Amino acid sequence: MTLVAILSGAGISTDSGISDYRGPNGLWRRDPEAEKLVTYDYYMADPEIRRRSWRMRRDSAALRAEPNAAHRAIAELERTPGFAVRVITQNVDGLHQLAGMPPRKVLELHGTARAVVCTGCRTRSSMEEALARVEAGEADPACEACGGILKSATVMFGERLDPVVLGEAMGIAKAAEVFLAVGSTLQVQPAASLAGIAAEHGARLVIVNAEPTPYDELADEIVREPIGTALPALLKRLA
Ligand SMILES: [Zn+2]
Repeated sequence: MTLVAILSGAGISTDSGISDYRGPNGLWRRDPEAEKLVTYDYYMADPEIRRRSWRMRRDSAALRAEPNAAHRAIAELERTPGFAVRVITQNVDGLHQLAGMPPRKVLELHGTARAVVCTGCRTRSSMEEALARVEAGEADPACEACGGILKSATVMFGERLDPVVLGEAMGIAKAAEVFLAVGSTLQVQPAASLAGIAAEHGARLVIVNAEPTPYDELADEIVREPIGTALPALLKRLA
């Protein structure tokens, strides 16, 4: 059994029509007003920020996006005998699971935009339901269990990553025989450091990204070609 760990970033979802909001050059970092919509303290303190945030979620095309060839190639490798595949993703779009990766084999470092969570009682429910309430006229829908403030189940700026998820990701990075970093600028920590941890523990490190990353020196192989064509070819070569 070959354990293949795949760290995926915004670049893997570009072909699905999802832009990089969160990265160093993403919209949220360039526009302070947009960044407030996804910053925990502002969100909790200001009902107007929450109303704008719900409108942004309602108007976003991300929930209607479809997985692309790269997502599908990863799910296919997972079904190939002799391979154990774990995905560690910085994305919140849920496209790995939609492409067929079993949910328990996908670690979402930054949470998911497909669910909402109550900041009071931590109850989770679906984003679809919450957006239906927004559509029906509730500009800032409250938790139906406790009346608390609802937010997307993503990790906002100012929130900690889930230590359990991060711990599992570290364990996978240490145990992986092959570690593929795909479409990640490897600039957002602690996700980026997983590439270094994997290399230190003897994994073959392959970086698939259009731009240079801070971890290129550690890589055994660097691929600059477009992910949608390069990744399926690369994974076929593994199998
Ligand atoms: Zn609640």
